[in-house]
Amino acid sequence: MKYLDEYRDRRIARALVAEIVERATRPWVLMEICGGQTHTIMRYGLDELLPRGIELVHGPGCPVCVTPLETVDKAIALALRPDVILVSYGDMLRVPGSRSDLFRAKAQGADVRIAYTPTEAVKIARANPDRKVVFLAIGFETTAPANAMVAWQARREGLTNFSMLVSHVLVPPAIRALMVSSTNRVQGFIAPGHVCTVMGCREYEDLVRDFRIPIVVGGFEPVDVLEAVLMLIRQLESGEARMENQYVRSVSYEGNRPAQKIVAEVFEVADQKWRGIGMIPRSGLRLREEYAAYDADRIFDLGEFTVDEPAECISAQILQGLKKPTDCPAFGMRCTPENPLGAPMVSSEGACAAYYHYRRHKVAS
Ligand code: SF4
Repeated sequence: MKYLDEYRDRRIARALVAEIVERATRPWVLMEICGGQTHTIMRYGLDELLPRGIELVHGPGCPVCVTPLETVDKAIALALRPDVILVSYGDMLRVPGSRSDLFRAKAQGADVRIAYTPTEAVKIARANPDRKVVFLAIGFETTAPANAMVAWQARREGLTNFSMLVSHVLVPPAIRALMVSSTNRVQGFIAPGHVCTVMGCREYEDLVRDFRIPIVVGGFEPVDVLEAVLMLIRQLESGEARMENQYVRSVSYEGNRPAQKIVAEVFEVADQKWRGIGMIPRSGLRLREEYAAYDADRIFDLGEFTVDEPAECISAQILQGLKKPTDCPAFGMRCTPENPLGAPMVSSEGACAAYYHYRRHKVAS
């Protein structure tokens, strides 16, 4: 299949690895931002093909993993209201809140429905005019246009029983937060191709300039990831720091302008809490004032939600590249996909789930 077979071609992968081996003269720590890239690395064992000194650490690019506990708790509180239908992506149902999860709320009788697209939530609202339908709108820049579109559509139709509980995060401010951290180990980033398909590459130029760090926008197949690693190694070994685009078959420099336009019309940039990591300035999106009537946070009296992360879960350190899932004492023992203690073990993009599915023999003792 075109655009797939050649990106899973063993001979091309071996040639890329050979060049990485030849060029790498010293250790480097590289971070892939996106959980999809992490899963490709684990699934194909790409990290094991690389020279020992090239370490791949896993970034905060799994949307479910970085959705704050408070948002999960708010979603559960809303779902338990008899007048509410809570609509969510399936991945979010098993994500632990501070005391429960949406799956258990559903078992207690809450009307929680799974959607594959945000438009399904609007359809549910149209079909249930006597109920309040709340869509749990989470994700990175990738899902923001579709979520913005349904808010725009609901407003245009004058739907009065639809709202969104929004927890949207942005990648460049998260990279900036990693770079200014005193514990940062990362020397080069593979930026997330899907996010850049929407937003383009421009914002990454600022990061390259401010921190003199190479950033390569990368795709999600094994050859994509290896080529992105090679592009980073070439830069690092020659002392350069540039923004490069490996994922040219999908990402343009300017990105998807119509998608950016609808996001800017509906959302505005705001400070955002990231699960485990904490507040990152201007790293999220919230609905604009004109869309206040569609903002579940404003229209429901939810009260204050402040909760602490479970001490046992080290996901914050994993998402910052400081630890690996197998460093967690609970990995594969008390924490499994069936009984997750943290979001990275639940999500299809979570680093702990990737290690569990592809490396379960390396369970911590
Ligand atoms: S294995 Fe479980 S408890 Fe440990 S960091 Fe991952 S999600 Fe958290």
